[in-house]
Amino acid sequence: MKNGYRITDSHAHIFPDKIAEKATNGISAFYHLPMEYHGRVSEMLENGRAAGVDRFLICSPATTVTQVHSINAFLASCEAAYPMCTAFGTLHPASENLEEDFEQLQKLHLHGVKLHPDFQRFPIDDPAAYPMYDMIQSAGLPILMHMGDARSDLSHPMRLAVILRQFPRLRIIAAHLGGWGRWKESQEILNADERIRFDTSSSLPFLSVEESVDLIHHFGAENCFFGVDYPMWSYPEELERFFALQLSDLENRGILSENLEQWLGLHV
Ligand SMILES: [Zn+2]
Repeated sequence: MKNGYRITDSHAHIFPDKIAEKATNGISAFYHLPMEYHGRVSEMLENGRAAGVDRFLICSPATTVTQVHSINAFLASCEAAYPMCTAFGTLHPASENLEEDFEQLQKLHLHGVKLHPDFQRFPIDDPAAYPMYDMIQSAGLPILMHMGDARSDLSHPMRLAVILRQFPRLRIIAAHLGGWGRWKESQEILNADERIRFDTSSSLPFLSVEESVDLIHHFGAENCFFGVDYPMWSYPEELERFFALQLSDLENRGILSENLEQWLGLHV
C-alpha cells in the first residue's frame, strides 16, 4: 500500500538468479538505458514491497524458441513460491512445436502470454504469428504485448490495429501506453475497448505530466494499469511520477490495482 492504495506492478521482468545480471545487461544494451535493478525475484520483491507494491505481474519473453519451456517452468515456479506474483508465460511464433509449447503453458496455469516483437524479431501482424494468436484467442488468455520502438516498426501501433481487426476476441494489454517512443502514433491509432488495455510502464519517465494524463484519458483511466517494467525503473521513483499526475482518487484506485484485478479476474 502507498498513500492508501493497493499497488500492483503490472509489468515486471524476472530471470533466474544465475542469468539475471546478464539478461538485465542485455536489455540495458538493447535500449541504451541504465537499469535500476538486476532482474532477480528476491530483489524485485524486496524493493517493490519496500516502496508499497503488493502484487506483481511477472513475465519474461523468450528470445529464442529453445528457451520457451524452461522460462515457462521458471515463471510458474515463482508464482507457486510467491502468492503475490501472477505469472504470464511466453511463446515464440517461430517455434515448430507451438501447440506443444502452448499446452505446457496452459498446464502450468499461466495467466497470459508475454510477447516482445522487437526482442523476438517478428512484426506483430506477421501472418506466420497468426496460428499463435489463434490458439491464444481460443483459450481466452490475454497477451501482454511490448509496444513501440522509435528505431523499428516491428511493434508499431498500426500493426497491433491489424491484429485487433483480424482477431476480434483476442485480449491484449498494449504495454508502454501503446508504444514506447511511439506515443503520438499510439494515441492516433489505438482506442480502448473491452478487450484492449494499456500499461503505463516505461512511459512516465519520457513524457511530461500533461502528455501522460492526456494519453491515460484518451484510453480511459479505467482501461489503464500501473506498471514499472522492473528491473528498468526505481519503484519509489515510478510511484512518485505516477502520483505527480494528480489523477482522481477513483482513477488512482483503478490504475494502481483494481483495473487489472478485475480484467484478469484475480481474487484479492
Ligand atoms: Zn516487458
